Formats: sequence, structure tokens, C-alpha cells
Amino acid sequence: MSDLNKMGLAGARDALRKGETTSVELTETFLKEIEGASALNAFVHRTPEIAMTQAKAADARIAAGDAPAMCGLPIGIKDLFCTKGVPSQAASAILNGFKPEYESTVSQNLFDAGAVMLGKLNMDEFAMGSSNETSVYGDVVNPWRRADEDTALTPGGSSGGSASAVAADLCLAATGTDTGGSIRQPAAFTGITGIKPTYGRCSRWGTIAFASSLDQAGPMTKDVRDAAIMLEAMCSYDPKDSTSAELAVPNFEAMLTGDIKGKTIGIPKEYRMDGMPDEIEQLWANGTAMLKDAGAKIVDISLPHTKYALPAYYVIAPAEASSNLARYDGVRYGHRATLDAGDGITEMYEKTRAEGFGPEVQRRVMIGTYVLSAGFYDAYYNRARRVRTLIKKDFDDVFATGVDAILTPATPSAAFGLGEMKDADPVQMYLNDVFTVTVNLAGLPGIAVPAGVDSQGLPLALQLIGKPWEEGDLLNTAYALEQAAGFVAKPAKWW
Ligand code: GLN
Repeated sequence: MSDLNKMGLAGARDALRKGETTSVELTETFLKEIEGASALNAFVHRTPEIAMTQAKAADARIAAGDAPAMCGLPIGIKDLFCTKGVPSQAASAILNGFKPEYESTVSQNLFDAGAVMLGKLNMDEFAMGSSNETSVYGDVVNPWRRADEDTALTPGGSSGGSASAVAADLCLAATGTDTGGSIRQPAAFTGITGIKPTYGRCSRWGTIAFASSLDQAGPMTKDVRDAAIMLEAMCSYDPKDSTSAELAVPNFEAMLTGDIKGKTIGIPKEYRMDGMPDEIEQLWANGTAMLKDAGAKIVDISLPHTKYALPAYYVIAPAEASSNLARYDGVRYGHRATLDAGDGITEMYEKTRAEGFGPEVQRRVMIGTYVLSAGFYDAYYNRARRVRTLIKKDFDDVFATGVDAILTPATPSAAFGLGEMKDADPVQMYLNDVFTVTVNLAGLPGIAVPAGVDSQGLPLALQLIGKPWEEGDLLNTAYALEQAAGFVAKPAKWW
């Protein structure tokens, strides 16, 4: 078969089962593609031996008629997931040389489902960022370029390596994580699909923690069907994560009928931001019309506390990060600074952390420590937690009126140039998350679906937000939107 790497999960699965290709052939194809794509800087650790071992085992299972859902399908794993014996550094210097003794539940679930790991994917350091420019491995480059330009663009962040790799056909699909938008925003910037499930759907065990009450893993795939297949394989109840939901995982793929007749879709007026580009406004209007044509009822809704979401997120996420990152002290993991004569344990901590953490991580640790400090705890952290409750209540109230899903833009712009935000106020970068953070604060499922291109030919996406635990329904609405939008553009290969 030709163009093996252009397939998605569903296509490759079917081709494997029909005997049209083998997992070994697929895996070799992807390993070669990855080799040729170092300009994208998406893969930071390749695992060809593991991949070939898994591929051979998968081919044997397929031959024996005993193939689980992801059997023989080569994927990439974000560097935030601990993978046994394989470097897992969260793209940080502080975890230099760290090879976990254990496997994260999500990657284990994928391996149990037969998936093949091609390697680990670049990301923003500790998943903090929106442009993949905070990684110790350097920037990830978006395979897309503006028409008639060769400016290097960001793939978004923090799951930028995952997004770039999937969009450039370096793997069939990849894992991502989303604390404030890190699956949905990079998916939007690269013309792929990304779903953040309900908080508690995917186990956080073995996923390096950023902000524990917000972090969720999810798939980044070429389309909605693939997202359904991979999400099902990633999810499970896990007693090792106390916030894991003890709920059966449905067959999400079977729920993709494309029939959304009679569904009610809410359009929240607060997401119509000042200064929003016309192209985003237009995309949103088009998406609304597509869902209406597909038989959904469209209603205007209000989520009144939306404007407080970004400030609340940038208090809560750094607070949790400062506490989660306290464990990197030069004693237990990775990097330890070289000490001078007379240095004690305090100097060891200080020097190690100053050398090991990049500037964005240091900024978050400082903000987090400040908002949790005795004098300011009530003014910042506790207030942000109250705001979070109100944001959640906004969604609960809307869903209680019979709304099934909410349609919004996924990002306020298309992908921007790498380095373009270098001199900007950090808050400018944080604005990338304006449409996505509410979903994490409320613990809801959200999906980004490519729905059009801008005047430069870059992909643009819409976000659908669903009810808790109703990922199947959300995926089906996304499927209807995907069918109507018919987004098929691919980046022209320059790497
Ligand atoms: N861009 C957001 C941040 O920097 C979200 C990151 C994420 O979802 N991991 O915090």
C-alpha cells in the first residue's frame, strides 16, 4: 500500500485487519517519516526498538484473530506521560535523565489495547505554555505555513509536539494533556481534532502533574472517529487516582451516527470578545448554521462569569503547580546542581531549581507561591476557587435548561509566528486560552474540530463543550459538525 502514513487510526485498523498491511510495515514507515521530519522537532525521544517489538506482537495477535481496539497502531506519546524505562522529562531540564520505573495508566491502557509507541513528543515545559516555546528541547514547528511565506509558525501548546506530529503524518495519533486548553488549542492550530474528556475520565496516575484539579489526558487525532476510538482506549477507572471516575467507558465509536436532530446547541454571548477577528466571528456563524442545517435547535445562552475564568485559572493553575513542582529539589529526580564548597541543602535546592526550571515555570512557581502565601491566600486563591464554583454553576444552569452542547470558537486566532510573542506581556500569551480554560475550571468535556481556513490558508477550529460524562454525545455532535464542515486541507510538505 502507498501513503501508509496518511491514514488515520480507523483506516489503519481496517487495513491491518484486512491484511492489506502489517503493523511492522506501518511502524517502519512512520519511523522513516519521523527521521525525515527533524525540522519539526516534534519527537524528542524515539523508541524504535519498543515500537518494533510491539508491532511484531501486534501482527501475531492480528494473525491469531485476537486484535484489541488499537492493535498494531503506531502513535506518539507526549513527554508528560511516564513511560517505563524511557526518558520522561516533561520537556524540562530538571528531569534530565529521568527514566520512570513505571508506566502511566493512560499509556498502559493504550499498550493493553495493542498500540505501538513510536516515541515521546515535545511539549511546553511542564505543559505550561500555548506555543511550545518553553521546551528544553527547543520550539516545535507547525507543519502549516501561511500562503506564500516561509515564516515558522507555532503548533500551539502545550501539546505542540503531538499536534505537529499528527498533522504532519508522523504518527496515526498522539496523546495530549489539557489543563487549560493544551489539547484543543494546538489541535486548532494544526487542523486536527483534540478532545479533553470530563475531569476524572482518564487516570492522571503516572502523568507528570501540572495542576492536579485541572489536568486531563485526551487523544489528538486526524478526525472525530479516531478521537472516539482512542479516547475509549485511554479511559478507565483507576484506583491509583483518587479523582478517577468509577464509571463504565462506553463504546464511543458506536455512538457516531451523525444524527443530531432535536439536539439543542447553545451559543454563549460572552464568548463574543472585543476585538475578535472577523474570520473567527464568521467561522463561528458558519458552524452555527451547519449545526442548524443538520437539525439542531440553536439557542442564545449566557455564561455570565466567563470574563473571570482566565484570571481565576491563572491563580489556581500556578498555585497547584507551585505545590506539585516542590518535589523537584535535586534529591529525588533528574538534575542536581554542582555545589560550591560550603553550600548546604538550601543552596542545593536553590541552585538546582534555578538551573532546572525555565523562565515560564519559574514565573508560575512564583505566582503560585504568592497566591498561596499566608497574607494573600484569601484574597487570591480562595477568591479564585469561589469564581470557579460560579463558572461551573453557569454551565450547570445552562445544561439544566435542556442545552445539549455549547458551540464556541476554539482559539481567538490562527497559528502565530514562533518568536512573535517574545516581547509581549505574558498575559498576551495567556489570552490564547480565553475560550478553553472555562471548560477545565468546570471539569467538562470539550473538543476542537477543524472547521475552516483563514485568509492565509491556516486552519481554524470550533469548540464544542458537552455535559459531564457525555463524551459520546459530544463526539457525535462533533462528528456532525465535521461532516458538514468537510475540512480536508493538509499542510504542503516542506520538511
Ligand atoms: N496554555 C495554558 C497554560 O499555559 C494551558 C496549558 C495546558 O493546558 N497544559 O497554562
